[in-house]
Amino acid sequence: MAEPSHPRSPAGRRPGDRDPVRWELWRLPRPAVALVLAVEAAALASVVANLADPGRAPFTGEAGALAAFLTLLSVVHTELATGIERIRRRASETSYFDLSSVWTFAAALLLPPALAAAVIAVVYLHLWRRVWRPAKVPLHRHVYTTATVVLAAGAAHSAVEWAGGLPASPDDVAGVAGIAVAVLLYVLVNTVLVAGVIALTSEWPGLRCLVGRLDDNALEVATLCMGGLAAVAIGATPWLVALVLPPILVLHRAVLVRHLEEVASTDGKTGLLNSAAWQAEAARAVLRAQRGRGTAAVLILDLDHFKLVNDAHGHLAGDDVLAAVATTLRGGVREGDLVGRFGGEEFVVLLADLPPGALGRAEVRSVAERLRRMVAELEVPVCTPDGNLTIAGLSVSVGGASVPDDGTTLEQVLKVADASLYAAKRGGRNLVRIAGPVQIPAPRTAAG
Ligand code: GH3
Ligand code: MG
Ligand code: MG
Repeated sequence: MAEPSHPRSPAGRRPGDRDPVRWELWRLPRPAVALVLAVEAAALASVVANLADPGRAPFTGEAGALAAFLTLLSVVHTELATGIERIRRRASETSYFDLSSVWTFAAALLLPPALAAAVIAVVYLHLWRRVWRPAKVPLHRHVYTTATVVLAAGAAHSAVEWAGGLPASPDDVAGVAGIAVAVLLYVLVNTVLVAGVIALTSEWPGLRCLVGRLDDNALEVATLCMGGLAAVAIGATPWLVALVLPPILVLHRAVLVRHLEEVASTDGKTGLLNSAAWQAEAARAVLRAQRGRGTAAVLILDLDHFKLVNDAHGHLAGDDVLAAVATTLRGGVREGDLVGRFGGEEFVVLLADLPPGALGRAEVRSVAERLRRMVAELEVPVCTPDGNLTIAGLSVSVGGASVPDDGTTLEQVLKVADASLYAAKRGGRNLVRIAGPVQIPAPRTAAG
């Protein structure tokens, strides 16, 4: 299960976890605090209601032993995986999956809900001590995640109950359908509750930030499927469940490889794609545009007189400006467009799926103009040796070129966009120059 990663509360800071008055939770927007408290109260209420239900409590000794066994497997899993998690933490502070849901999901299917909640509480307490507290994740975030898992487990249990229990014979289709529905409900409840709190915390974090990446969700579903198989295997012989441990650890390693790939393609200062990764993805996008006989365009943006910012305020303040410009550019284009840091104070944008002909060229020009304006309006609060101040009055020169008007490969289009950028610099800076279909470069609009 992933911890919700709130963009505005970096995992590196954890002020006042011990003092309830100073909890970071209270600094979230009111609706987000209300949702967090409501979800935690609902999780607690569901446990109390299940304890009071004579059909679901008290527990048999067998159920207790099974709960202890699943908890033990989860602890062993976490201990074996902490080396992998430590590498992931070093590589990034963003959310990551601990894959513990294989055990919490098996517990949800096999145990009465209140006992499954006890397993979840112990598993998450152990994860907190070994994984999340060292990563400096605020306690309130982990408690919220635990509550969402308790509710998701309750929903999964109901699905299996509704299907008449876990499959007991080869032709028990309803039992198999029950597990499939349980997987869906578990993912749905978790995703909705995590996305809900992120949506209430940030302005519009983007769909990917809200519901997670497709492959992260695929990984979560794969983990739950393992949990479902583990639950059924226990019906035959509890020891069979130990066979789940090796594949889940291999799955964990596969996650690490993907995670490192992601880190290797990201520019550390700005969080954008680095030059190599941008070029690889942009080349694919150009190829797609060519095959589909569509249009794409490339913009190169170079901050004007950026050296003066460094000279006046220092390189660390300069880095803050680069990060703010990166965020601005990312927010100024569509989700499918590619924004990268080309090097130094130069950025590149690939605009995909443009309309053909003059319409497409007009759109390139209007996006370039919008980005230029957004940078010009940017105010960046920085902390300098002379105190806190705001850097404003930035400007950027932009050069653009299109596929197929200005070239059919990324390299050709980049060359033309670069020539357009130099035309913008020569023209006086804070300008947009888009190459025309015939003349290269063809300065036609002097913006600003
Ligand atoms: P122009 O308008 O001609 O582009 O002028 P400029 O000053 O922006 O360009 P120039 O190429 O002379 O200088 C680029 C500056 O960008 C100098 C360099 O120190 C700064 N720079 C490059 N990479 C970084 C970085 O990662 N952090 C910071 N703070 N500055 C950087
Ligand atoms: Mg430059
Ligand atoms: Mg520059």
